[in-house]
Amino acid sequence: SLYFGDISPAPPDPVFNITTRYNNDKNSYKVNLGVGAYRDENGQPWVLPVVREIEEMMSQDHSLNHEYLPIEGLQSFRESATRLMLGNECRAIVEDRVRSIQCLSGTGSIRLGAAFLKRFHPDSAIYVAKPTWGNHRNIFKNEFFPESMIKEYPYFDSATRGLNLEGMINALKEAPERSIIVLHACAHNPTGVDPNREQWEAIADVIKERNLMPLFDSAYQGFASGDLNEDAWSVRYFVSLGMEMLIAQSFAKNFGLYNERAGNLIVVAKNSSDAAAVLSHLKALARPMWSNPPNHGARIVATALNNEDLRAHWFRNLQKMANRIRAMRELLLEKLRALGTPGTWTHIVNQIGMFSFTGLTVRQCEVMTSNHSIYLLPNGRINICGLNHDNIDHVAKAIDDVVR
Ligand code: PLP
Repeated sequence: SLYFGDISPAPPDPVFNITTRYNNDKNSYKVNLGVGAYRDENGQPWVLPVVREIEEMMSQDHSLNHEYLPIEGLQSFRESATRLMLGNECRAIVEDRVRSIQCLSGTGSIRLGAAFLKRFHPDSAIYVAKPTWGNHRNIFKNEFFPESMIKEYPYFDSATRGLNLEGMINALKEAPERSIIVLHACAHNPTGVDPNREQWEAIADVIKERNLMPLFDSAYQGFASGDLNEDAWSVRYFVSLGMEMLIAQSFAKNFGLYNERAGNLIVVAKNSSDAAAVLSHLKALARPMWSNPPNHGARIVATALNNEDLRAHWFRNLQKMANRIRAMRELLLEKLRALGTPGTWTHIVNQIGMFSFTGLTVRQCEVMTSNHSIYLLPNGRINICGLNHDNIDHVAKAIDDVVR
């Protein structure tokens, strides 16, 4: 064949591949802790009641149509999403130096940011956390940043199962000026370890002093603590220091709109003409990629954010998810303690967000799957949402078994 003959297949995506293997498993007691999506207490995907309510309203509204959105997306979505991230009191917004463009969820927002950086700062190094969400490196690689330019800063300290602040700060101190620092706004994936406020301040100091640029990845606002302001604190703090930055915002998790691809890339610039110029180039980059973004998810988010009652309804839905996750963390810890499982497990309740970085080794993870039909990432990351009252004993016993 002329074109397709010499191509060996690409490896399957490690996370999506876990779901495939889980689906093929015939055991009735199988548990999927690999997928990064919320599950309710019955192990089922949860359509947020507020989303159902808005969809019903939309189905009655015959003025809605399927016309193209502008390249930059739905204005009511972009504006309300940006305010949700930066806060209503944000000085940068008042000073008109913030712009945003609707993108294909969090991934598309980071990707468009990466395309912009490749065009205007092709020589910048990209720093990602060690470890980080598997897709970060891929995104920059696929925007043709050479692998040698995609560097890691230490993040997780496996001894304390907490933050390696000193290692992180030292790496940032040594980063060349104009490097891009990819930061998780909250609920760090995969570790569930976030800096506290004092630690964020120290991180921000170095980034500012060294003229580095933060690229915040915000995929879990409100989902982590149940409080939208709390989860946006890091981003707002950096903005308050007057830094330029990009913020990639996803509504996959906090609205349960995974497949609707509702995302927003925010630019905070020094002044409004810079901000406008950046937005014009983001539009120029988006046009030959996806041309214009999808409407459905963005309209749901905008409708919820712009109506007081719906917004309150959304908060309640968010809190329900955050509370269930916290309850499952506590219950898992309790079960492991009751079993007398060797090791300390308090990190399970100290970690934040959807994931817990259990500390299980690659080998132990393999046995979790082969002997117990429990599916998780080889780095030991489990999705706490995959736990419920029916399967938690099985999971706790399996952990107990593999660490003995
Ligand atoms: N960033 C992080 C850290 C994530 O965990 C995820 C989802 O798993 C995303 C970004 C983006 O997800 P999406 O593209 O579905 O919004």
